[in-house]
Amino acid sequence: MTEEILREIRALKKQRNAVILAHYYCSHEVQALADHVGDSFYLAKVAKGTDADVVVFCGVSFMGESAKLLNPDKIVLMPDPMADCAMAHMASVDQIREMRAAYPDLAVVCYINSTAELKSHSDVCVTSSNAVEIVKALPNQNIFFIPDENLGNFVKKQVPEKNVMVNHGFCPIHKAITVEQLVREKELHPHAKVLSHPECNSDILAFSDYVGSTADIIRYAKASDADAFIVCTEQGVAYPLQQDNPHKQFFFCHPTPCCADMKRNTPEKILEVLKTLKNSVQVPEHRKHSALRPLDRMLEVAK
Ligand code: SF4
Repeated sequence: MTEEILREIRALKKQRNAVILAHYYCSHEVQALADHVGDSFYLAKVAKGTDADVVVFCGVSFMGESAKLLNPDKIVLMPDPMADCAMAHMASVDQIREMRAAYPDLAVVCYINSTAELKSHSDVCVTSSNAVEIVKALPNQNIFFIPDENLGNFVKKQVPEKNVMVNHGFCPIHKAITVEQLVREKELHPHAKVLSHPECNSDILAFSDYVGSTADIIRYAKASDADAFIVCTEQGVAYPLQQDNPHKQFFFCHPTPCCADMKRNTPEKILEVLKTLKNSVQVPEHRKHSALRPLDRMLEVAK
């Protein structure tokens, strides 16, 4: 990224009263220029509270949609409208209907990584930071967790008193991390602690010293006395980890987990949308209320 691009972004941000939000899985240079960097939960809260007129959301489409739902009167821009999350589409409204018919007291708990259509048929959204506490807090005994199977199973284990049924979606990036890769890394760094995201497969989680959301992993690494960690999540998190802990070492499995969609966000594209206001996120009129309800409920319950 050139100084010139950075200068232009700063000037346009001021001119348009814009704020730039970036997910931890974006490239290091995008994180470095953003006003707020975080995981989905943190960014949803920032998007809800901002007084900017324009929100540039460096993430994938479900994040832009959520920001727009929470801020219907603001302009929400995606640097690249093709940045999408495969997992967000891995459940169906028909499945939800079938489950509701089978379990009259069912709560459909929807990971925020999902389309506005799926959200609009759900009772509450969750993120990996708050999924366990929200499922615990719900009055319902029967829970249908969509779309991620691994996070759903992680919640099921933490909340054994409820009947948590999971859908079979997955994150291709986290699912691709294997125990064989992790064992190889552990052999190279035997004293390193293993920190994993709950979207990883259950055998990875069983091997881990700590399981948590991206933000929780960052907090854990900072507070820990250990000085070396094997991190089982997307590689973008290396940037905040290294910023916070310059004297600690962080290793990733090989091949290094990388979400190509998150990397579609670049400084050049941020500059372009700030100049043109193109790629403005729109949510269909008939989903505006129904898809916002579970997001608002999440923010309310998580308080
Ligand atoms: S890392 Fe996985 S869950 Fe996150 S945006 Fe990429 S595909 Fe979706």
